[in-house]
Amino acid sequence: MAEIRDTTIINRMRKAYLLAMGLLILFMLACCVIIILAISDNMNHTQGINAASRQRMLSQNINKCAFAIYLSETGEISERYRMELTTTLDLWATVHRQMGEFRLNSTNQSLFTPDVVEAYNGIANYHQRIAEAASEILSLTADPGFNREALRPYLNTIIAMEKGYLNGMDNMVNLLEYQAERSIYQFRNMIFIMLFFAFLLVGLNIFLIFRPMQRFISRSIDEIKESQERIEKLAMTDELTGLYNRKYLNSVVYRTINHADRQGHDISILLLDLDHFKRVNDNFGHPVGDSVLTSIAELVKRALRDSDLPVRMGGEEFVVLLLETEIEQALTIAERIRSSIENYNFEVAGKLTVSIGVSQRSRGESFELWYSRTDIALYDAKEQGRNRVISAIEDISVRETDSIDWMPILETGDETIDGQHRAFFEYGKLMLSKDFRSHEREELLNDIDRILEDMVEHFDDEEEVMRQSGYANREEHKKIHENLLKKAVWLEAAVRENRLSSDVFISYLWNDVIYGHVTKTDMDLISFLRRKREPPKP
Ligand code: GH3
Ligand code: MG
Ligand code: MG
Repeated sequence: MAEIRDTTIINRMRKAYLLAMGLLILFMLACCVIIILAISDNMNHTQGINAASRQRMLSQNINKCAFAIYLSETGEISERYRMELTTTLDLWATVHRQMGEFRLNSTNQSLFTPDVVEAYNGIANYHQRIAEAASEILSLTADPGFNREALRPYLNTIIAMEKGYLNGMDNMVNLLEYQAERSIYQFRNMIFIMLFFAFLLVGLNIFLIFRPMQRFISRSIDEIKESQERIEKLAMTDELTGLYNRKYLNSVVYRTINHADRQGHDISILLLDLDHFKRVNDNFGHPVGDSVLTSIAELVKRALRDSDLPVRMGGEEFVVLLLETEIEQALTIAERIRSSIENYNFEVAGKLTVSIGVSQRSRGESFELWYSRTDIALYDAKEQGRNRVISAIEDISVRETDSIDWMPILETGDETIDGQHRAFFEYGKLMLSKDFRSHEREELLNDIDRILEDMVEHFDDEEEVMRQSGYANREEHKKIHENLLKKAVWLEAAVRENRLSSDVFISYLWNDVIYGHVTKTDMDLISFLRRKREPPKP
């Protein structure tokens, strides 16, 4: 649709452009014609005025020569003036003829107006009379012994005609000058008209071409921007659910965190994972699974505010970034989502539940660590039976100053068990002393593997000791071992796949294994074994 409109606009603009250019060319041609006409008109007038001046001068010369011949004492002098009179008469006749021819041939009506023609005809009569009288003088004086008095009537004719001739010439020059002036005024007016048309053309250009073009370009830029935003948004959204995708989260999360730090705002995160979603696919097929995911996205969105950022991370895992939200509010929102999913009746799939890990970001905490903490909370929610919201522990970081040494109070008397417990403390301190963030990744993964192997071996040994010694809480203790191992395996995979920060494993080793298990859960077993070995004195 937009494309069709664009083509129409472009066509219209092209037509307007061609029209304006055509008008411009016509205008320039008209200007050239007007200028050429004005110049040639002016040249005609100048030629006419020049010829008239020349004729005046020649007629005076004829007069002078006729007088000189009449007055000359010697034949020699009269001969000189006769020659001059002859040439002057020839020249005079030639120019007169030219003027006549010019008048007849000229197409320039502005030059030969009826006034000028009348003036010229008047002069022609005087011209003829003077020419005849002068010719008569020349023929009478051809013989050197001519009769001077016979010249007199011709001389009188020349004098009498000269006055009329000169007046007529003056009259004609005046008329020509007047006309030349008038044509210059006309030319000046033409220039004004040309200027007017020039401005008109510029105005037409502005209104017919420039302004629409400007509007068209700015509208095109807007449209391009809009479609660019649409494309960007499309690249940033999840096709199935319409939520943001992981790429979008990655692109905004660091900016969001920095902003929150600068403004001193709290910021929280929810990690959601549907419970037993694989069963939905297995039982009802993938399309049903997809429609469940779309409904889940709707339920999540419904529980959020505009400022919150729901993201589908992939599969049936979702993340929600809650801006300006502290943990209590985040837990309320998470609970709202959890119960809305629990209470919803999915078409075909029926009832479903979700597990959610929640945490508030500690000031200055990296996104990786924050995310890792929350992922462990999600893990715990699954472990504790699913369909629940678990808040992450606030600080998983373990500093070297938090580490402790193995203590004699932990001694069971069983060398194997005690050695293995000591080893966990050593591992803990070893892990703290390394900087795994940079180059020692491979080494870290090897260390974790070794710790995992030792944990398996230790739990086996400890369970054997429990069995042999008849420890009552054996089954319960065994279950705890199982869970510890499961979490270790999960953490190892997450760190290996770069999904979680390596800090989470160090935190796990200290908090879950050393502090949480060896120095707490194991304490009951340790005191049981010690009592067995050294029965209390009665
Ligand atoms: P739990 O999380 O409670 O441990 O169990 P679960 O069954 O949800 O476990 P898991 O995370 O291993 O399974 C996720 C399943 O989600 C695996 C896959 O079949 C399904 N899945 C992943 N992406 C999609 C998807 O885009 N559409 C559909 N229909 N299924 C998906
Ligand atoms: Mg999953
Ligand atoms: Mg799941």
